[in-house]
Amino acid sequence: MHAPARLTVDLNALARNYQTLGRVSGLPVQPVVKADGYGLGAAAVATRLMAEGARTFFVARGTEGIALREALGPEAVIYVLDGCHGDQAATLKAAGIRPVINHGQQQAAWTAVGGGPCGLQIDTGMNRLGFRPEDAPEPFEGLELVMTHLACADEPSEPMNTRQRDAFAAATLKYPGVTRSFANSSGCFLGPEFRFDVVRPGIGLYGGGPEAKADPRIAAVATLTAEVLQTRDVPAGESVGYSRGFIAETPVRVATCATGYADGLIRATGTSGSGQVWVHGETRRILGRVSMDVIAVDITGLDVAVGDSIELFGANRLVDDAAKAAGTISYEMLTSVMPRVPRAYIG
Ligand SMILES: *Cc1c(COP(=O)(O)O)cnc(C)c1O
Repeated sequence: MHAPARLTVDLNALARNYQTLGRVSGLPVQPVVKADGYGLGAAAVATRLMAEGARTFFVARGTEGIALREALGPEAVIYVLDGCHGDQAATLKAAGIRPVINHGQQQAAWTAVGGGPCGLQIDTGMNRLGFRPEDAPEPFEGLELVMTHLACADEPSEPMNTRQRDAFAAATLKYPGVTRSFANSSGCFLGPEFRFDVVRPGIGLYGGGPEAKADPRIAAVATLTAEVLQTRDVPAGESVGYSRGFIAETPVRVATCATGYADGLIRATGTSGSGQVWVHGETRRILGRVSMDVIAVDITGLDVAVGDSIELFGANRLVDDAAKAAGTISYEMLTSVMPRVPRAYIG
């Protein structure tokens, strides 16, 4: 059935970003496809990335790993960033999925099911997941990748980056011959001294720029569009939407469009007052509150009809800019798009 809101994913743009990140870093790209490929559809994006040459992928959860194995077949190498906890170790092992071992309990759980290929996370200062360098285990059978994660990669001048790099370089001396994975997307842009053996980008593949802002080197991949459900003229003095969130000081023409917070459009996009959309070649403001299912857009002076499309983010309104207006980051804009919104693929 016809869907009035849609997330269109340009797989050719995804492929270009994959090539760009490889070129910028000079290293093999091992994509992060957690959270359903940042909301774009993990199976579709990973399948295309595999066709572009990627072999190794990262997800966050064991369940995501199992789903990805089914989508990609036996050839893909899949790491689970969470590691293995509870009774997951046996399931992951049976599916040929590699946990990233974050602490001693996980190492014990993996060993208990016979071990095998896995990764190891060193915490170099983020204090989130992984062994502190002084607690890192001795090299062990099956260890194929050692990684850490940058806390401030989107702030190139932040001294924390250099501290983490130095800590990682020191900690990995213990594991000669084991592949070292350091940079996320923004980390790819930090310069040659932040390169180890492979890179582990997510958002840059999906159209988010380094330093949390739009960058001409990164192509837009995901476009969220919604159709106009109704148009109307609102006289001066009347209001639009819940809580009279917008009051017309002069007459305005309004398009009510089929997307709201239940589609994943961040509600703060409306309350910030700086929310905008792209419609008929122009940037236009969102009027008042974002409702559950609809928004109102100022189309004064435009010839907009029912059924026309507006763009919430995409090639014309970059996801980083849309995120800023909503007081959030591109990651949340993309991963918030709900299952109610069908994904359509180009390429
Ligand atoms: C999500 C994640 C990444 C990818 O980060 P981006 O900023 O999206 O490139 C890499 N490594 C770890 C550990 C992550 O959790």
